[in-house]
Amino acid sequence: MKRIAVFPGSFDPITLGHSHIVERASSLFDVIVVAIGTNTTKQYLFPLNKRIEWTEKVFKNLSNVRVVTYEGLTVDFCKSLNANYILRGLRNGTDFDFEQSIATMNKTLNPAIETILLNTDPAFAAIHSSIVREIIKNKGDVSSFVPPQINVYE
Ligand code: ADP
Repeated sequence: MKRIAVFPGSFDPITLGHSHIVERASSLFDVIVVAIGTNTTKQYLFPLNKRIEWTEKVFKNLSNVRVVTYEGLTVDFCKSLNANYILRGLRNGTDFDFEQSIATMNKTLNPAIETILLNTDPAFAAIHSSIVREIIKNKGDVSSFVPPQINVYE
């Protein structure tokens, strides 16, 4: 059976923290599905088409990485793809507490799906999409925080 992992998030926008986690995990799984959430009640800074375009651009050289959109429960989405793993990144203890709760609840919803948490490289531990968005709203330079392939001001 193929080891398929879903990496869910908003990617609003994709950061070096996200891309590094996926790059490292790409050798651990047969397929990684980067799943861009489309939650109708959530306000995004960037439209879905930009979030998809940038995420695809960043992973275009990783042959086992796919970019898709989804809505609804992550475990239901995993089941629809026959994916048995949810991949998440950890920056610090706050992330750990949150991720542990989601992982435990997801495990209750579907015991067949395992959550795999990868510790971020310390170089990317300070990068938060929410702070990147604040810098963008104020026209700052985010080139140290987002992958070089994307230009958020295009
Ligand atoms: P959400 O929209 O669920 O708040 P994001 O879209 O920002 O989350 O992130 C999706 C995943 O990427 C999460 O597992 C998150 O922990 C991880 N992540 C975000 N930033 C980093 C980072 N700097 N280093 C490692 N993982 C990260």
